[in-house]
Amino acid sequence: MSQRDYKSTLNLPQTAFPMKANLPEREPLILAKWAELDLYQALRQQGKKRKKFVLHDGPPYANGEIHLGHAVNKILKDIVTKSRTLSGWDAPFVPGWDCHGLPIEVKVEKEVGKPGEKISRAEFRAACRQYAASQIDLQRDAFRRLGVLGDWEKPYISMDFHYEASVIRALARIMSQGHLYQGYKPVYWCLECSSALAEAEAEYADKKSPAIDVAYRVLDEKEFHARLPSLGEKLTDISIPIWTTTPWTLPASQAVALHPDIQYALVATESAGHLVIAEALLDAILKRYDIAGHKLLCVFPGAALEHIRLQHPFYERSVPVVLGQHVTVDAGTGAVHTAPAHGVDDYSTGRQYNLPTENPVADNGCFLASMPLVGGLFVRKADDVIIAELKNRGVLLHATTLTHSYPHCWRHKTPLIFRATPQWFINMEQQGLRRSALASAANVNWIPDWGFNRMRLMIENRPDWCISRQRAWGVPIPLFLHRETALPHPESVALLEKVAQHVETGGIEVWDTLDTAQLLGEDAPHYRKSTDVLDVWFDSGASHAAVLAVNPTLAFPADLYLEGSDQYRGWFQTSLLTSAAMQDVAPYRTVLTHGFMVDTDGRKMSKSLGNVIAPEKMVKTLGADVLRLWTSSTDYRSEMAVSVEILSRASETYRRIRNTARFLLANLDGFDPALHLVAFEDQLALDRWVIDYASRLQTDIIEAYTSYQFHQVQQKIHHFCAIELGGFYLDIIKDRQYTTQSDSLARRSAQTAIFHILEAMVRWMAPILSFTAEEIWQHMPGDRTDSVFMHTWYENLGSLSERSALNAAFWDTVRLVRDAVNNELEVERKAGHIGSPLEASVSLYCEPALKQQLDLLGDELRFVLITSRVNVLGQERVTDAAETQVPGLRIKVAPLNDPKCVRCWHRRDDVGVSSLHPELCERCVENVEGAGEIRQYA
Ligand SMILES: [Zn+2]
Ligand SMILES: [Zn+2]
Repeated sequence: MSQRDYKSTLNLPQTAFPMKANLPEREPLILAKWAELDLYQALRQQGKKRKKFVLHDGPPYANGEIHLGHAVNKILKDIVTKSRTLSGWDAPFVPGWDCHGLPIEVKVEKEVGKPGEKISRAEFRAACRQYAASQIDLQRDAFRRLGVLGDWEKPYISMDFHYEASVIRALARIMSQGHLYQGYKPVYWCLECSSALAEAEAEYADKKSPAIDVAYRVLDEKEFHARLPSLGEKLTDISIPIWTTTPWTLPASQAVALHPDIQYALVATESAGHLVIAEALLDAILKRYDIAGHKLLCVFPGAALEHIRLQHPFYERSVPVVLGQHVTVDAGTGAVHTAPAHGVDDYSTGRQYNLPTENPVADNGCFLASMPLVGGLFVRKADDVIIAELKNRGVLLHATTLTHSYPHCWRHKTPLIFRATPQWFINMEQQGLRRSALASAANVNWIPDWGFNRMRLMIENRPDWCISRQRAWGVPIPLFLHRETALPHPESVALLEKVAQHVETGGIEVWDTLDTAQLLGEDAPHYRKSTDVLDVWFDSGASHAAVLAVNPTLAFPADLYLEGSDQYRGWFQTSLLTSAAMQDVAPYRTVLTHGFMVDTDGRKMSKSLGNVIAPEKMVKTLGADVLRLWTSSTDYRSEMAVSVEILSRASETYRRIRNTARFLLANLDGFDPALHLVAFEDQLALDRWVIDYASRLQTDIIEAYTSYQFHQVQQKIHHFCAIELGGFYLDIIKDRQYTTQSDSLARRSAQTAIFHILEAMVRWMAPILSFTAEEIWQHMPGDRTDSVFMHTWYENLGSLSERSALNAAFWDTVRLVRDAVNNELEVERKAGHIGSPLEASVSLYCEPALKQQLDLLGDELRFVLITSRVNVLGQERVTDAAETQVPGLRIKVAPLNDPKCVRCWHRRDDVGVSSLHPELCERCVENVEGAGEIRQYA
C-alpha cells in the first residue's frame, strides 16, 4: 500500500456544520424555523403543568428605532426566560409598549397640526394611534430579529382599549382608597410642552440666569422700632434686600421670608440707607453692593420682624415679613422673596400665612393681560423689563448673571418654570401611602442590593405625585367636576367604572362624546367633564393591574422586573406606588437592574459624540448572536462599556465556541446514539473524566443562570472550550478518533463523551447563543426536528466516584504533569533539539507517590502527553533533568530516532514489523487489519 491509501483508513472528522457562521444570513432562517414550530406557543403548551416564572416586561416607548440599551434589556430578559425554561419552569414573556404621552403627541402635531385647531381631537387621537402602531411594528421586528422569544403576536399595548379601561379602574381603586386629591400647587411646567411635568421628567442642567439684589423698603417704621427697642435713634430709609435668579417671579411676590433663629444685622450705609442682612453674609454682601463704610447698629433674630409690612418693589402693595425654616445663609442675603405661585417652599409658607397664591402666568407662558408692567408678556421676556423697572425705582442693589444647576424639560432641554395650577395628586401621606410603599419595598429582593436604599430614599423624599396633564393623547382623568366648586361628583368611583366600561369598547376617544345626562341624570347640568389626562407614567405604572392581573398566562405579583437603573425614578417607582395604593403590596418579588451603555471612555452614547452603536447595524454585520454574547459577557450591574473593538473581541470568543462545537460535531460522524452509546462505566478513563468535568461545570452554570450572573456562564463555557476541551481533552483524543477502527470501543467511548458534552453544552449556550445553539442542535445525531428550547438541562452526565483511583483529583495531577511536559518540549523545540513532540522521548523522574499515580495510565500516558515514548522513572540521580513546577517531578526530553509511522506519525521501534505494511507501526497494522484494539486503561 502507498501512503495515500492509509489516509482512507483514518476516521477523519466531517460535518455539514459550517465553519463560517455567516450569522446575518443564517439567523433569519432559524427565526423562520421557530415561527414554523410556533415555538412560543409550543412552550406554553408544554409548560402548562410547570411552576410559573413571570418576568414582566417594562414597556419601551413606541417611538423611533430601538437603540442598544433597548436591545441589551430585551436580550437580558430573554436569557432569563430561556434559562428558567431550561430549568423546568414555565417562563412566559409578554412584551409591552407604552403608547400615550407627549413624544408621540408632539410628533403627530408636526404632521397634522394641533388638536382642536387644524384637526379635531378625535382625528388627532386616531393619528396618534396609527403612528404608535407603526412604531410598535418597527420595534417588534427589531426585537424579534435579536432572537428574543415572546408573545409577539399578542403583546400588551397601553393604547389597547382594555388596557385603557384598566388604567381608569386603577385610578378608581386609588380614589376609593382616599389617595387622590385635587390641589392647587406649584408644579414643574414646561413652556414648550404647555403642560405640567412629573418630577421624573425634570432633569438638571446648567443655565445662565440673571442674579439680582432687590430692596424691599420697610413701610411701617414705627412698628420696626418697637420690635428693636435697643435702637436709640429713629431711623428712616430701612430696607431688607432679597436676592433672586428669577426676576419674572417678582410680580407674584407676596412676602419676604426670614429664618426665625438666624441673626440679622441692621447696618447704616451712606449710599443705600439702612439695610437688614443676615449677619453671616454681611461682609460679602456689602462688598457685592460696593459699599465701603458702614455702621453696625444692632443684631437680632429674624423672628423679631415677623409681620412687619414691606413695600413691593414695583407694585403698589405691601407684603409682610414671614418666617420660614427653609431660609438659609448659603447664598443670597438671608431674606427670601416669596412667590407662593412659583415655588414649593413658597407655597407652603403662603398657606401658613394665608397669602394670595394666584398664579399670574397663563398656560401659554404669558402673564395675564391684567397684570401691570408685564401683562401679556412671555415669562422669558419679562426678566429684562422687570430689571429695568427696578433700576428706575432705585431698588436694584446689584445685578449680574450666574450659571447654576436648574431644572429643564427632559424632552425639550429647555428651562422649566414652577407654576401653580389646579392638578390631581396622589397623596403620599394622608392614607399612609409612603409608609405602605416603603414596607412593600422592604419585602422585595433588590439586585444589586443597593437598589433597596435607592428606592427607599426616593420614596422617603418624594413629594405628592402630580398625575394630571393638560394634553390630548392620554388616558383621561374622566371625572365630572362641579361647575361652581370644581369638586368631583360624590359618586365618582362608581362613575369611573361606568366610564371604564365604555372605554373598554370604544377607547379613550369615548370620553369626549360620552353623554353626561345619561350617566349623571338630574345632576348633569351642574357638572362638566375634566379635560385632564393622566401622566403617562401612571399608564405604565399600572401595568401590573392591566396586564399581570389580567393576562391568563401571567400572574400577580411578577417574579421579576428587569430594567435599566434609571427606572428607580421611573417605572419601578410608579409601579410600586400604584400597586401599594391599590393593594398595599409591591407588584414584583425581585427587581434586577442593569447599567447604561457607555463607550470605552465612560461616556454615554450620543449622536453628537458619534459613539452610538446601532443594534440593527450590528445584527447586519456581526449577527445577533455576537451581540447576545457581548451582552452576556458584560457585568451588567454597572455601566456597560461597548465599542466596535469590544464587539469584535466578542466575535473572537464566538468563533472559539463555534469552532469547538464544530469539532465535536465533526467527530460524531457515523455515530448513532441509539446504537453506539457506551455505558459510563465501560468508557475509557479520560472520557469518563471529561463527562464528570462537564457534569460539575453544569451545576455551576445552572447556578450562575439562576443568580443572573450571565457573564460567569459565558466565561465558563468559553473557558471549557478553550482549556479543558481545546487545550487538553480534544487534543488527546484526536489520535484515538482518527487512527483506531471506526467501531472500536476506544473510538465509540470518545464519541459517547463528545455526544454527552454536546448535548449538555448546546443547552448551556442556548439562552445566550440562541441561534447558534439551534443550528448545532439541527446537526446533532438523532431526531432533531424539534427545537433545543423544548428541552431541559441535560441529565445524562455521569459522575466519577471520589473513591476511584482515577478521580477528578488524579486528573488534575495528570494535567499539571502534562503542562510541565509541554513547557519542557517547547524549550527543547526552540533550542532545536527536537521537532514536533512526537519526535521526542520524555523521561519523568518522579517521587514515589507521583510515580504510582502515573503508572496507573500505563502505555496510555504517551497518548495523554502526545509523545511517542514516555518513561516513568523513580528519583534516579540524573544531572540533566529539568526541575518543574510540579513538586517531585523532573523532566528530561531527548530526540527519538525510531522510525516514524506514516499513518499515526508516532516514532516507534515496531514500525516495519509487518512486511505487508512496512511503513506502519504495530498498532496501526492492527487497526488497518481489523484485529486490533488499543489497550483500555483502568
Ligand atoms: Zn417640554
Ligand atoms: Zn502508527
